[in-house]
Amino acid sequence: MKAVHTELHRSHDPQFFLVRGVVKRTTEQPERADRLLKGLKDGKHQLVEPTTFGQGPRARIHSPEYLSFLSEAWDAWTALGDSGPEMIGNIHPVRHAATYPTHIVGRLGWHTADTAAPIGPGTWAAACAATDVAVTAAQMVMDGEDAVYALCRPPGHHAYRDMAGGFCFLNNSAIAAAHLRQKHERVVILDVDVHHGNGTQGIFYARPDVYTVSIHADPVAYYPYVWGYAHERGEGPGLGTNLNIPLAIGTGDDGYIQAMDVARKAIESFAPGALVIALGLDASEHDPLKGLAVTTPSFRRIGQAIARMGLPTVFVQEGGYLSDILGANLTSVLAGFEEAR
Ligand code: ZN
Repeated sequence: MKAVHTELHRSHDPQFFLVRGVVKRTTEQPERADRLLKGLKDGKHQLVEPTTFGQGPRARIHSPEYLSFLSEAWDAWTALGDSGPEMIGNIHPVRHAATYPTHIVGRLGWHTADTAAPIGPGTWAAACAATDVAVTAAQMVMDGEDAVYALCRPPGHHAYRDMAGGFCFLNNSAIAAAHLRQKHERVVILDVDVHHGNGTQGIFYARPDVYTVSIHADPVAYYPYVWGYAHERGEGPGLGTNLNIPLAIGTGDDGYIQAMDVARKAIESFAPGALVIALGLDASEHDPLKGLAVTTPSFRRIGQAIARMGLPTVFVQEGGYLSDILGANLTSVLAGFEEAR
């Protein structure tokens, strides 16, 4: 399996992370990509540089106001003169009968769901490069590759149509799915990140053509807390094309593989033409954001289960944080896929 990667992610190096009132260094660090890259090299995957697709694929998913905000944000922020080293909102309007603001501080609040997506000088460039990585992988699959892996950083699955959050700015998985939709009538996004893919769910909630399935730690006690419940099934024409499979905190291998089986059956009944895997590796037992307890051998089983779905597949990197096992888990899931194909 070929893997798309660029060093351009490095310009995004966020620092701020607020956890239960405590300010910490974020876990979404550039070194993540170095460890994932080592996992790709250990798996002997051929590395490919991304093609630049520009704004078109991003504009299929994100609103014009949001894309303008992200592209202008840093310059407007530094022009304030008394602003901090990263953009973090101090107002989060809930949008009830609200007016779209013109001031950068208001726009920052409008377009961020939480404080976990600080914007720095290189954030926009890195986020754009990540969408090019995802779209390049999708294009390669449309052109005949069986499966391609996209090493995206920053991740994307918490980003809504017009809102950043949870380390995410542009929804790489959603953008890859929209690109695949040019060729396939129905596409599935299966999100195996430990966190619910709330942004992806929100983007496709009323759409019947993209089935969103997420296996994640139960939001009753885990981020994102207010999305990810089993009763969220979609709305309007999209009713029935959103499936959440929350697992009790600490669920291990067997519970996870059972959930994969539930997901597989649901996906088969949808009869999609292509599959996007929102590949978080933070369900690992060794991930610092401890939610689930999947072992490295079981990441191989997850890869095998994905392969047996028999669909052209784009793997898009989501979460997975610094642990000694991060690269090995990536090697494991991709090897499992290849041996079961
Ligand atoms: Zn995650």
